[in-house]
Amino acid sequence: MNLVFLGPPGSGKGTQAKRIAKKLDLLHLSTGDLLREAVKNGTELGKKAKTYMEAGELVPDDLIVGIIEEKVASGELADGYILDGFPRTVPQAEALRDMLKKNDSGLDKAILIDVTDEEVIDRLSSRAKIEGRADDADVSVVRNRLDVYKKQTQPIIDFYEKESILTKVDGEGDIDDITYRLQEAITKK
Ligand code: ADP
Repeated sequence: MNLVFLGPPGSGKGTQAKRIAKKLDLLHLSTGDLLREAVKNGTELGKKAKTYMEAGELVPDDLIVGIIEEKVASGELADGYILDGFPRTVPQAEALRDMLKKNDSGLDKAILIDVTDEEVIDRLSSRAKIEGRADDADVSVVRNRLDVYKKQTQPIIDFYEKESILTKVDGEGDIDDITYRLQEAITKK
């Protein structure tokens, strides 16, 4: 099963992707985690990504597409995966479609985790206290990430709707209930 998880920052993508990956025995690939790790380790990638991330902007498409291409080429994704945080722009979605096609592969579903703006802002400010992510602690950076999501990421919802693989799941309420809803949405035909 090859899945993409979509949703605004704070929608619970990361938390739920981890849970579902474990339950369905899929690889969980979070571009946010991967980039934060690169920044922490001071790698070339980390150096390039840092200023964008601190401002709540997206890192350039070619940078992130290159990383995903490497993952696809390495065969790591061969047994099924959940992409969390990628794609985030229409060019990224197109690049993903093309690289998968080249490998005779494709996505089974794109899952949109639906939550309201108010809920997102509440969740990110409490996450800031728990996880200590600088991009969560600064209200103006949080607002910018939401803006960036609306302008750059929301258009890929239409992209996947047109490909007839989009499924929306209500992302509000009890964490276990959301996991259950996701699992149902993913496993039903
Ligand atoms: P969130 O969804 O909570 O905003 P993520 O952990 O998914 O956080 O991403 C954190 C940051 O990493 C983003 O704000 C962005 O700067 C960068 N990033 C992650 N994935 C991508 C991507 N696919 N394209 C561009 N930038 C990305």
